[in-house]
Amino acid sequence: MTTYLEYKNNSNNFTFQTGDTVWGQNYFNIIAGPCAIESEEQIIHIAKKVKKSGADMLRGGAFKPRTSPYSFQGLREEGLKLLNLAKTEVGIPTISEIVEVSHINLFEDVDIIQVGTRNMQNFELLKELGKSKKPILLKRGVSATIHEFLMSAEYILAEGNPNVILCERGIRTFETSTRNTLDLASIPLLRSMTHLPIIVDPSHATGKSNLILPMSMAGAVAGASGLMVEVHHSPEQALSDGEQAITPDTFDFLVQKVKDLLPLSY
Ligand code: PEP
Ligand code: MN
Repeated sequence: MTTYLEYKNNSNNFTFQTGDTVWGQNYFNIIAGPCAIESEEQIIHIAKKVKKSGADMLRGGAFKPRTSPYSFQGLREEGLKLLNLAKTEVGIPTISEIVEVSHINLFEDVDIIQVGTRNMQNFELLKELGKSKKPILLKRGVSATIHEFLMSAEYILAEGNPNVILCERGIRTFETSTRNTLDLASIPLLRSMTHLPIIVDPSHATGKSNLILPMSMAGAVAGASGLMVEVHHSPEQALSDGEQAITPDTFDFLVQKVKDLLPLSY
């Protein structure tokens, strides 16, 4: 059986758009924002900062799949309303994570729906998202092989939604010094296997704010079609993932460094 992914051979120029942002293997877009939407002031402040630095899209989790049930679970529906407020007030397209099929209608104003690492093989969710018209950012499962990752993308494509972005966000290995191990080789490998754009999330891949800049640079040179970076104006006060958040000033520097490297990209 021929899969939708094998379509690569005659679709090297596959692209789609979210607002003014064009996604494709030969494009490069930066998504930035907090791990979680915490308040109106927080999301609007960060949205303005990252947009000014050159971010193409604003991220912010409203439904947070946390390891502990006692950790901040996100502002849920209210969070999505605040994200949409930031979108209209600041003028930047948005992305947020879905965790449950029945929530799809809550994401009407969100430009890209994110499927997180924990749901990469939630096949019923993938099938429903395949029926939707929204672009989907599919994050690699924490212990998913490249084949499993691609088959999850295939679930979405097979239902008729061609607009999928793959996200390498690190995999679990024996190494505990970093939150996960960033599988940089997956970027050029996936480029050779599929027509879909592949971005890097250095934040969840490393869990350490001082590693975000070098891994963003490495991802760009390895041939990624974008980055997703967690940014917070006050990382020590963030309600989730503060250890891996970079400040708006660091983000500003990162955007310049990465853009300078793009001509060297694989
Ligand atoms: C996130 O991007 O907010 C997130 C929870 O990431 P992951 O699913 O990769 O852990
Ligand atoms: Mn996070």
